[in-house]
Amino acid sequence: MMETPKITPEEEDRMVDAAFKELLDGYMASNHRKKVEIIERAYKFAKEAHKGIRRRSGEPYILHPIAVARIVSREIGLGSVSICAALLHDVVEDTDYTVEDIESQFGKKIAQIVEGLTKISGGIFGDKASAQAENFRKLLLTMNNDIRVILIKMADRLHNMRTLGSMLPSKQYKIAGETLYIYAPLAHRLGLFAIKTELEDLSFKYEHPEAYKTISAQIAATEAKRNEIYTAFAGPIKERLDAMGLTYTIKARVKSVYSIWKKMESKHIPFEEVYDLYAVRIVFDCDKETEEKKTCWAIYSEITDLYRLHPDRTRDWLSTPKANGYRALHLTVMGPDGNWIEVQIRSKRMDDMAERGFAAHWKYKIGEGEEESELAAWLKTIQDILENPEPNALDFLDTIKLNLFASEILVFTPKGELITLPKNATVLDVAFNLHSELGTHCIAGKVNHRLVPLSHKLQSGDQVEVLTSQSQRPKAEWINFLASAKGRARLNAALRKDRRAIIEAGEAKFTRFMEENGLAMDNENVTKIFMAQHLSNREELLYMIGNDDIALSPQLLLPLKPQTKNIFNKILRNPFKGNKTKTAEPTVEKIGDPVDMKKTYLLKTEKGVSNYKIAPCCHPIPGDDVFGFVDDHNNVVVHKLTCENAMRLKSSFGGRIVTTKWETKHEKFPAEIHVEGIDRMGILQEIISIISTNLSIYIRRLNIAADAGVFSCDLDVDVEDVDVVNKLCKQIKTVNGVKSAVRMD
Ligand code: MN
Repeated sequence: MMETPKITPEEEDRMVDAAFKELLDGYMASNHRKKVEIIERAYKFAKEAHKGIRRRSGEPYILHPIAVARIVSREIGLGSVSICAALLHDVVEDTDYTVEDIESQFGKKIAQIVEGLTKISGGIFGDKASAQAENFRKLLLTMNNDIRVILIKMADRLHNMRTLGSMLPSKQYKIAGETLYIYAPLAHRLGLFAIKTELEDLSFKYEHPEAYKTISAQIAATEAKRNEIYTAFAGPIKERLDAMGLTYTIKARVKSVYSIWKKMESKHIPFEEVYDLYAVRIVFDCDKETEEKKTCWAIYSEITDLYRLHPDRTRDWLSTPKANGYRALHLTVMGPDGNWIEVQIRSKRMDDMAERGFAAHWKYKIGEGEEESELAAWLKTIQDILENPEPNALDFLDTIKLNLFASEILVFTPKGELITLPKNATVLDVAFNLHSELGTHCIAGKVNHRLVPLSHKLQSGDQVEVLTSQSQRPKAEWINFLASAKGRARLNAALRKDRRAIIEAGEAKFTRFMEENGLAMDNENVTKIFMAQHLSNREELLYMIGNDDIALSPQLLLPLKPQTKNIFNKILRNPFKGNKTKTAEPTVEKIGDPVDMKKTYLLKTEKGVSNYKIAPCCHPIPGDDVFGFVDDHNNVVVHKLTCENAMRLKSSFGGRIVTTKWETKHEKFPAEIHVEGIDRMGILQEIISIISTNLSIYIRRLNIAADAGVFSCDLDVDVEDVDVVNKLCKQIKTVNGVKSAVRMD
């Protein structure tokens, strides 16, 4: 770690300003239009935003964005928009400023790039880097015009790698690994050769410190000998090039430590046997683009006059450039010591392209006022390359075919993690794909910071936050909102699990209840009880108890206590005059369903008016389409036509079905309404006033839960019939913010 010398705040400030000035000087020396004002503003903004913050090394934080902007400008060759975005790249993530703040100060384009950088700051470049490498390329394709996001991210990573020494060793290892896995191949793909090489070497240094040290030492130790051979080799070439009247540079380029190590590993050879330890590179000036190719071949001709050419190692990247845009002419000839030496011939323009990728290409094309259109053309070129990988660019992880993309979307979590989903996927898909627990408790979502229902369909590039509530339970109808197989599988598992949990809770409650009443939980007793409830088995009984569909009241135990028969009959109400039910079979115990007695009403059946009870499973109210089922005790139990239990009863006991019709509307019936929506001041008051003022409905119970901007509320109301409930739901839905209002069974 660097020693931090004691310096005054004023000195530190001067140091920071000097770093910025150096960045600006480099920009002024470039071919870009001189948009100094906005860059200076971005600098001041970032400096203020990061004020007082320091990096792990102890230096002021602002030096990092300045360094990233410098790489963006000098080493990648981008212009003012990218420089500003680089200066601001950590502002949204690390400070209280928002993307909107950036947009109002610096315009839409810069804000979009900063937003893109913020989105990819975690996740993909975080813990699951390797698993997400494939997603990353897809991301490139979906982030249409924002390839600058990737380039600035690259610069960010390069600076972090250059300063990795001050990180904790455990972090060094992880960052180095993902750099090697994701960034270096990507830099290669984008034609940023110099950056790729540096990233590889820096990663290697932290991943294999010993090997790095050894190979570096070996390179240094053989330098003198190498220089000797090189001098002898280059001398005659220089004479020829001078004679051609060229302005040029000729240099020996030693392979990077990482590529030497890779060669040693893959060929199982010691350092001494890596024969192409270095290459000789000739870079010549050339005004006319049309002359470049000709000149390359002229130089080639001169060299092959001097040295013996290796027949199989000439590479013509002039006529057919590499996929990443690389152009040059390579040949291998025998050196003075009898070893093969590779010679690379390029023009200055080609050399820039090789080192900086397509940014350099753009730099050479630029003219006054053309900046944006040329940039657009350049971005297009990069995208073309990404979309049409050539066979010789296999280094990158090229497994996904483009036509897969039409059926897929990519979304971000708030942490920047990427999730691939099928088209039409919803917030609920994201929730279940992240975690079953998130899915089962999902209540809504925030897409790009806007609140949406869980059924909201997502677009590629959306940032999705899942909102949950502990009171939420998985619902069977959610299956309609799920586009992903994983989401569907997890919902189904959750529904099974939820049912199991409810049954278990019901069993515990029921066991305690039986104990308190001194009754045994044996088969006989339990069977009597569930039979009396018109249920087909013990499990259903326990489920309904667990779900509070059946109350643990003394009535539930009536089938076990024959002596209660008289008491029960006494309290039976019969509001229909002169139509008292005759019970046909006195041998059958006439005990009622253990439903709340208030729920015992009369209605008209085909056999006339009879005692009836409201089925505890579907709670029909007057107005619902219903039918009656005559139970063992000659009571007519009224079910909704759509009730699942009733379906089963109908199929097995068809003879006991009676048609029923609601007689009059003189009773109030309880109904439960579930309302969901976006929380805001006064919303509840509006809902309540609709219910009590406008509709004169009595509210018996009100249960509200609010969570992260979303609220849900359960209303128990007394209504006359189904029309009133429907009308009520409809009116509640007109309240601003309410997403749904439905009657619950
Ligand atoms: Mn950064």
